[in-house]
Parts: sequence; structure tokens; C-alpha cells
Amino acid sequence: MDALLLYCRAGFEKECAAEIIANAAQLGVHGYVKAEPGSAWVLFQCASAEEVKLLTTELPFYRQIFARQWICVSPLIEGLPEGDRLTAVRARVAELVPRYSEIWVETPDTDAAKTRLGFCGRFTKPLTNALEKKNQLALGSSAPRLHVCFVADDAAFVGVIDADNSSPWFMGIPRVRVGKDAPSRSAGKLVEALMVMIPEDRAHELKAGMRAVDLGAAPGGWSWVLALRGIRVTAVDNGPMAAVAMATEMIEHVRGDGFSYRPHRPVNWLVCDMVESPSRIAQLVAEWIARGHARHAIFNLKLPMKKRLEEVRRCADIIEQRLAREDINYSIEIKHLYHDREEVTVCLMQDKAVR
Ligand code: SAM
Repeated sequence: MDALLLYCRAGFEKECAAEIIANAAQLGVHGYVKAEPGSAWVLFQCASAEEVKLLTTELPFYRQIFARQWICVSPLIEGLPEGDRLTAVRARVAELVPRYSEIWVETPDTDAAKTRLGFCGRFTKPLTNALEKKNQLALGSSAPRLHVCFVADDAAFVGVIDADNSSPWFMGIPRVRVGKDAPSRSAGKLVEALMVMIPEDRAHELKAGMRAVDLGAAPGGWSWVLALRGIRVTAVDNGPMAAVAMATEMIEHVRGDGFSYRPHRPVNWLVCDMVESPSRIAQLVAEWIARGHARHAIFNLKLPMKKRLEEVRRCADIIEQRLAREDINYSIEIKHLYHDREEVTVCLMQDKAVR
């Protein structure tokens, strides 16, 4: 298993590749990538299995912005016959590690996935039976998870990853439930961000009774998500808010400019989904946190430009420099969420011990 397979949103292979190259280089690992535009996967080929292991133990998965999942894989199995894809896959699986804690048969998230996923589901059962027979399945144990990824109907990667430093979701896609009456599709972004970006031990920092400001709130998906959690929201936008959001009676709509609005007293959370230049948003959020207007923030950086990774890094630098001036300790997670298209979501939380 001398390569790392990464899943990403189709069209973001270049960013996913550039990111793993840079992160690996920091650990002295210099591989090369295979990344076909639109394929939704990237292969980072290393010189040895030890190097791949080093990456997936030393780099925290949650720090990868564009990767939805990563897996240490053996060479691609190609030319699988239509009538029997199991024999070759089973043979490879048998030799990788002694035991697996789980089996996920996946495919990259492209249009082809819609038809291939049915096959993946049907493939899981016989593979599970084969592993059980050989006593190679230890469900719920600390053994690595097995991933079989069909990148084509007749080609699959087989590999493993430890559950505690990878995405806990099948295909790296969180199952997010957003109510049918959500005021906008954007609501899913915030639901996903709250689910995957706020660490469990800090879940209490977003709870009923808190206050939030939502900049660029209309038609109100994000405000509505917060309101349903019992958070009082000041929704700033010149545009109209959906009736379903206002019906929560937890939202105050302020018609105004999100860049000049400031709250009368500090709030727990600032959220911001304004379609604006990323560096302007980064400056704005940093200013709110630096001046104590909000304690934590979740915001989007829209990335319509070509150099998306560079832009994200530039924004992270803007925030770092501003908050360093105030001596503010914080943690930041930047993720290209499943619900994000040409944008990333940032969760910035001040550390428990501040100033
Ligand atoms: N998060 C919202 C939701 O879940 O329904 C969607 C927000 S939409 C993507 C962006 C919003 O930002 C638009 O309603 C737009 O009016 C607002 N916006 C853009 N620039 C703004 C500004 N300078 N001040 C206030 N609102 C702004």
C-alpha cells in the first residue's frame, strides 16, 4: 500500500492534489500525483508503504481542506471480468492486513456513481462472507477499515485506513438531514458544518439560549438552522427573509449592510454566507473576533477564481495576522463540505483559555 487515494468533489482534483503534495512535503515525503479532472479522486504515489503510513498518522485528516476521504491503497486492480470481479478483489483483500473492522465498497462521487453504487452494495455481501470465512472480519475492533473503490466498472483500488484519522462517512459524504421546509438549499451547508466541524467536546458551545448574528442571511436558511436550535439570531440582509424562518420567532431581521453592521453587545456566534471576495470576508470575520463582537464564527469563502487553494491560504493568513495582534488563541478548520460547491466553509473557535 504505497499510494494514498483521496476522494474530493469532482472538479477539485487539482486543489486536492496540490494540498496533499504540500502537506506531505512538510513531512519530507515527495510523491507524485495522478489526478484526472472530473474524476473525483486523486492518487498520491509515494516511494513506500511506510511513507503512506507516515502521512496518515502524522497529518490530521480534519486538516485536509479538499479531501473528503483518504485511504492507503495497493496498486489498482484492472481488467476485472464482468462476470467475476470478486475473485481478484478477494485475493488482494486477503493479503493486505490480518483483520478489518468494517467493509466499505465505494466509488468516486461522479455521475457514474449513481449507477455504480447499486453494484457496490451487491458486492459488499459476498466480500463480507469471504472475509468472515477466513476469520478476517472483527467488526467494531480497532483494526483498520477496508475500502474497495471502483474507479471504473472493471477497476478497483483496495486499501485500508484507521477510523480515528479519516472521515467516518461512507464515500466521505456526511448524511445530513435538513427539514423539507428549509428556506434555502444553503441550510444544508450550515447543518453539515455544525455536524462535522464542531468537535464533540465543544458541542456545548452552540446551544439554546445563545445569540448569533447572520451576515448575508436572506432568505434565511442559516438563521433558521440556528433558530431551530434555540439560538436568537440577528439576520442582516437587505433581501427578504422567508416566512418559515421568521415564523420561528427567534430571528430579528435587520435590513442593512453586512460589512458595516456591528452588534450592540457581543454574541456567541457570527455566521456569514455573503457572496463577496474571500479576503474581504476573512478581514471582516477577523475584525469581529479581534474586537470581541463574537466569540466563534462559521463562514463561507466563495472561490470562483482559478487559484482556489492559494486564496484559501491567503485568507487563513489574514485571520492569523489579525488575531495574533490581539493575542487571541483559536482553532480553525477549513473544509470543502459536501454541500459546498465553489466555496469552502470555515469554523473558527476561540480556545477555552483566551487572552
Ligand atoms: N445563508 C443564506 C441562507 O441560508 O438562506 C443564503 C445567503 S445568500 C448565498 C447571500 C446573501 O448575502 C444574499 O441574500 C445577499 O443579499 C447577501 N449579501 C451580499 N452582500 C451583502 C452585504 N454587503 N450586506 C448584507 N447582505 C449581503
